Amino acid sequence: MNILLLGPPGAGKGTQAKYICEYFHIPQISTGEMLRAAVRSQSPLGLEVKNILEKGELVSDQIVIELVKKRLEETDVEHGFLFDGFPRTLPQAHALVEAEIFLDCVIEIQVSDESLIKRLSGRRVHLASGRTYHTEFHPPKVAEKDDLTGEALVQREDDKEATIRDRLAVYHRQTLPLIEFYRNIPGLSFLTIDGDQPIEEVRKILLDWIFEKFFKHPGIES
Ligand code: AMP
Repeated sequence: MNILLLGPPGAGKGTQAKYICEYFHIPQISTGEMLRAAVRSQSPLGLEVKNILEKGELVSDQIVIELVKKRLEETDVEHGFLFDGFPRTLPQAHALVEAEIFLDCVIEIQVSDESLIKRLSGRRVHLASGRTYHTEFHPPKVAEKDDLTGEALVQREDDKEATIRDRLAVYHRQTLPLIEFYRNIPGLSFLTIDGDQPIEEVRKILLDWIFEKFFKHPGIES
């Protein structure tokens, strides 16, 4: 099963992606995470995209498409995958169609800009593990320290408020058109979910929906 999670930065795509991937045993393909890893390792790609990520702009379609195509050559995608943060532009979506990489469902998580700014500006990350916290909604036991290792938490450069506003503008301009694009593909299951609800609630709605759509035999009562 191939799933796409769509939504603005801070909508909770990463969090929900982890639940879905664990539940259905499929890998999460997060282009943002792959690009940040490249920056951390200071690879040629990382050096090329570092500034773009810090400014909250989009990396070129060509780079991202190549990255994803390479990732899809790995064997763990055999039974499906979940895209988180890709495609993000119409050319990226078209590239998938041209490469005959098809999706079974698209899930859009909607959250208001106001909530997103609050969520993102309070987000803190433990770089080594990827564990995330929030200064208000999910604070660590000791301020600015990871619960398990005691190491310092950091704020992503692109989680600073001015950059968040830029990222939201980019989302509205470049990524929202994808919603119409995917809604108009016949036979593609599309779910829009209100992401301004507790994480657990969103998780339940998503998992129930996927299960109903793809795993419940039509003739059998549960
Ligand atoms: P994310 O973690 O998905 O919010 O992505 C972080 C940053 O990585 C974005 O602000 C972009 O600079 C870059 N990025 C991630 N995915 C893409 C994509 N599909 N196309 C272009 N840039 C991307």
